[in-house]
Amino acid sequence: MLPLDSPPALHAAAPRCKPQRLEARVIDKRVAIVTGASRGIGRAIAERLAKDGRHVVLVARSAEGLAATDAAIKAAGGSCEIRPCDIANAADVQALVDGVAETHGRLDILVNNAGITRDTLLLRMTDEQWDEVLNVNLRSVFVACRAALRPMMRGKFGRIVNIGSVSGLSGNAGQANYAAAKAALVGFTKTVAKEMGAKGITANVVAPGFIETDMTDILGDTVKTAVLPNIPVRRFGKPEEIASAVAYATSDEAGFFTAQTIVVDGGMAA
Ligand code: NAP
Repeated sequence: MLPLDSPPALHAAAPRCKPQRLEARVIDKRVAIVTGASRGIGRAIAERLAKDGRHVVLVARSAEGLAATDAAIKAAGGSCEIRPCDIANAADVQALVDGVAETHGRLDILVNNAGITRDTLLLRMTDEQWDEVLNVNLRSVFVACRAALRPMMRGKFGRIVNIGSVSGLSGNAGQANYAAAKAALVGFTKTVAKEMGAKGITANVVAPGFIETDMTDILGDTVKTAVLPNIPVRRFGKPEEIASAVAYATSDEAGFFTAQTIVVDGGMAA
């Protein structure tokens, strides 16, 4: 285990962020980045964090896709902005996080929610399907977290939530790439929590079960019907039910809550 205060070893591989100009830019709301905020779970998280008084930076590839979230938050009196970014590109992720910290003079909350599936049985899985899912679902989280630590340390406060999946806890036929990425998030997040706990930064995973979004819409009625008997509450979850867990894990009062995986799955994986 590395000692907590061993910055040379701890940060040897991390590129240095540009110096932040904090004066006059600091806003009084906590600033939260939410990736994948254009629809589904990410949109619900963004709307909930804005309702809870955060300034939310909405991230997805498509600015048009984010416009509806932006409009809904502002109509409800919340504060947000749109920053399109393809998280498959590590340099763009780094620039996104640096840019938010520089613009606002702070970064308090990071929710790595954006994710993709490229499902097929392992026998048929291509290298490209493996790499694409690991890159978007795991590597982007590493890059975003690494970039977020310096502004969070500067603010002596940070809340990181990485969105996992029950597939990463139990495995799931047809999802070797996705389950591997989501399982890795758990070990990664616990490590962030252990390295950063003394700095006021917490890191947790929220692992959803089946939630009603575009990602599960494509499953078709046969699969959905087959899944239901395995869910004790006998229904799919709603994105807002994941957002509630994220709201707690990113709240000021959750400072003693870290290195955990919150499973929100209607009891399926128990
Ligand atoms: P979704 O409805 O498919 O939405 C995915 C979001 O991610 C969209 O906003 C999409 O916007 C964005 N996105 C995808 N690729 C991106 C990229 N390369 N760069 C930036 N943004 C990107 O997904 P969801 O169902 O809400 O799932 C959200 C998270 O929960 C994912 O991590 C998923 O693995 C996890 N999860 C979901 C379920 C479920 O049942 N739905 C269960 C377990 C875990 P653009 O297309 O505009 O980029």
